Amino acid sequence: MSAEPVRPTDCSEFRLRVYEYIDAEMEEVDCGRIRAHLAECGTCMSEYERDLVLKALVRRSCACEPAPTTLRMQILARITTVTVEVRSEDSRG
Ligand SMILES: [Zn+2]
Repeated sequence: MSAEPVRPTDCSEFRLRVYEYIDAEMEEVDCGRIRAHLAECGTCMSEYERDLVLKALVRRSCACEPAPTTLRMQILARITTVTVEVRSEDSRG
C-alpha cells in the first residue's frame, strides 16, 4: 500500500479544518472524510456542534448584539490559526 488517495481524517486534521467544513469551503472528497470521522468520533462531533454554535453567535453578534470581547477574540484567533495552518499544509503539497 504505497498510495493513500483518501486517508482517513484524524482528530487533529478535523480540528484544523472544521471551519472549512462548517462554511462548506471544502472539496466534496474532504467533506466525506470529515463526515466519516464525525460518525465515528464523539469527541469531534461535540467539538463540531460547539463550533457551529460559536460561529452562529459570532455571526449574530456582528449583526446585532455584541459578543463578549474575550470570547470573540478567542474565536477570531482560532480561525486565524486554522487558516494559517491549513495554508502551510497546502504549500507542502
Ligand atoms: Zn476525532
